[in-house]
Amino acid sequence: MISENPRVRFAPSPTGYLHVGGLRTALYNYLFAKRNNGAFILRIEDTDRTRLVEGAVKNLITTLKWAGLDFDEGPGKDGGFGPYVQSERLALYKRYADELVQQKKAYYCFCTSDRIKQLRDEQQKTGLQSKYDKHCLHLTENEIRDTLKNNEPYVIRLNVQPNELINIEDIIRGEVTFNSNVVDDQILLKSDGYPTYHLANVVDDHLMKITHVIRGEEWLSSTPKHILLYNYFGWEIPKFAHLPLLLNPDKSKLSKRQGDVAVEDYRAKGYLKDALVNFVAMLGWSAGDDREFYYLDELCSSFSLERVNKSGAVFNIEKLQAMNFAHLQKKTDGELLNLLKEEVAVSSFNDHLLSDEKLLLIIQSMKERINFVKEIILNASYFFIAPQTYDQDAVKKRWTAESAGLLQKFAETIRGVENPSKEDFENALHQVAEIAGVKNGAIIHPLRLAVSGVSGGPGLYDIIFILGKEETLGRINIALEKIII
Ligand code: GLU
Repeated sequence: MISENPRVRFAPSPTGYLHVGGLRTALYNYLFAKRNNGAFILRIEDTDRTRLVEGAVKNLITTLKWAGLDFDEGPGKDGGFGPYVQSERLALYKRYADELVQQKKAYYCFCTSDRIKQLRDEQQKTGLQSKYDKHCLHLTENEIRDTLKNNEPYVIRLNVQPNELINIEDIIRGEVTFNSNVVDDQILLKSDGYPTYHLANVVDDHLMKITHVIRGEEWLSSTPKHILLYNYFGWEIPKFAHLPLLLNPDKSKLSKRQGDVAVEDYRAKGYLKDALVNFVAMLGWSAGDDREFYYLDELCSSFSLERVNKSGAVFNIEKLQAMNFAHLQKKTDGELLNLLKEEVAVSSFNDHLLSDEKLLLIIQSMKERINFVKEIILNASYFFIAPQTYDQDAVKKRWTAESAGLLQKFAETIRGVENPSKEDFENALHQVAEIAGVKNGAIIHPLRLAVSGVSGGPGLYDIIFILGKEETLGRINIALEKIII
């Protein structure tokens, strides 16, 4: 049974960009919250000062917003449980670490990094698990007091009790059991006064009243430490759901080396947010049928953690592309117009302003031929600028000795038509072909080449109608001068 009004959180560390795996974690948390009338919280886990990246938090928030995943509570949006940035909560962690020390559930450790390294080397040599040996647990009260007085650097470690069975009831993975003998005396508070991930994460999940911890499988091995912390504090343990790993097609862990992993990169490439969100949602979840096309609000009403798979989910880029195509086809022309204008604004054609009416015609002619809106500009630049060159293979194949004469005749015919419609262009071409005793193709192909510089693309009559009479005539003239065979 899901508690009333569950509270879930996405808790990224601001180390640069938002990973697609992070987007999936954020999305599943968001969907779970929406489906169950809960709250979706964004918490920034920035206690590892060595990994901080300037601007990462802002970037993260912008990217989540772009994807449509608005948080209910988080930085800049207090719901009574803030601050939501861990570096602003340091005093809290110190207080809780001290509390555990007083209860002997944690202890001061003054070991130098040299000693720790030596210990690790020895353990490695003898094939033992790398673990702290509780050396400092045996210091006397006086020794501890004196060393602290001397301002010696220290950390606080969890005092893990041996031979305890730690059970995790994971919503996705079922029951997972660890023995406390394999759990290290984890550092809770570092010598710089910052908490480690483990302490800060548990303290915050407790104080923020998180009911369900939904996160990537890579955190499963940390969960026994968290459970011990909950137990040692005497706090209620939240429910856990560890999401399956994202894999490359060769089943290795999804990595930068095999392609883009940053959501920002997909956005920059022109993927639609609807498509990326839909695709990411299907990485490890399905409603139990073969439906694959969803909008965010539809996902909100269909999602459940129980239907998330245990096994890794392959990140298949072809599938993402197909998803983008499918979402693009469902967009209205008006929506595509806005997207196209954004692309034009950042392209080299930003000063070749075309009317909305023209852009809409371009969209209609290109929609079914593109996976990305920006392909309209990349593949059909001729709508924005006259061809600078002519595809030489197409010239060889399509431009014959009679082409120039036929194009001239077509130009003459069209010159006499006022405001020619698409049909007028078509009729003029048929008429010229008939009189000259040639097939329509003898004019269509060279004309396409003359106005676009290439051999493929949307229907010729669409192209020249969109270009308009004057532009078409101008381009025929230039082609007649430039294409000499
Ligand atoms: N800060 C961790 C991360 O970067 C959060 C893990 C968790 O959700 O507990 O993913």
